[in-house]
Amino acid sequence: MSRQFPSLFVSHGAPTLVIDQCPTRDFLVGLGRRLGKPRAVVCATAHWTASAPMFSAAARPGTVHDFMGFPDELYRMRYPAPGDAGLAGRARELLAGAGIDSGLDEVRGLDHGAWVPLMLMYPDADVPVVQLSVQPSFSPAAHLALGKALAPLRDDGVLILGSGGLTHNLRDLRAPGAPPASYAAQFAAWAVDMVESGREADLAAYLENGPSGGRNHPTAEHFLPLLVAMGAGRDGKLVHDDMMYGVLSMGAFAWS
Ligand code: ZN
Repeated sequence: MSRQFPSLFVSHGAPTLVIDQCPTRDFLVGLGRRLGKPRAVVCATAHWTASAPMFSAAARPGTVHDFMGFPDELYRMRYPAPGDAGLAGRARELLAGAGIDSGLDEVRGLDHGAWVPLMLMYPDADVPVVQLSVQPSFSPAAHLALGKALAPLRDDGVLILGSGGLTHNLRDLRAPGAPPASYAAQFAAWAVDMVESGREADLAAYLENGPSGGRNHPTAEHFLPLLVAMGAGRDGKLVHDDMMYGVLSMGAFAWS
């Protein structure tokens, strides 16, 4: 049996995370060193939304610069990690076994939800990466089910990584070092409590249960990767916490 890696959720913030000197950048660099390299990563990314779960399967996925108005340096960055079509196929079989239809995209490259944290964690770009889409038209609870179905991959040394944002109201961004807005801090604290007490169903009902749930997540895509990661593990713990731009919680969790 391969070594088992935790299931992880990280908040990726702004694309400049990869060049900014900030606590979350340091956290991700240290996290990769601490964990060591998995056989491969399956990354559920907020920046790939689809109407059904999709896996990326290009042998040499390109680096997608899916953001506008940032420094030129970011657009020159490449993260040449290989894909892993065999792993994508195995992941699809696991979903099929759970009654979940999925698809394969043999062209899609790595979006910044995947490459920004992975470039910090595994700068050698030698760990194969398969991306998984999120489905805003599916329920949040359906994303817990996705994670549960994929959990057996962890027995083969695969790291399941959700990349999104613990809070994510881009319309309310403030200065980089602004004090945390209370509505964002309250939601993040509630989510930490839900994760650490294992209350999956309550977390999935974040729009009803979470303080200012809809204000923190005007759209679902940055929250859904958290549910995929939680579904794939147990005994979740907060492993990093910060707030950037006043409203972007950079909270990260690991599940054993
Ligand atoms: Zn994002």
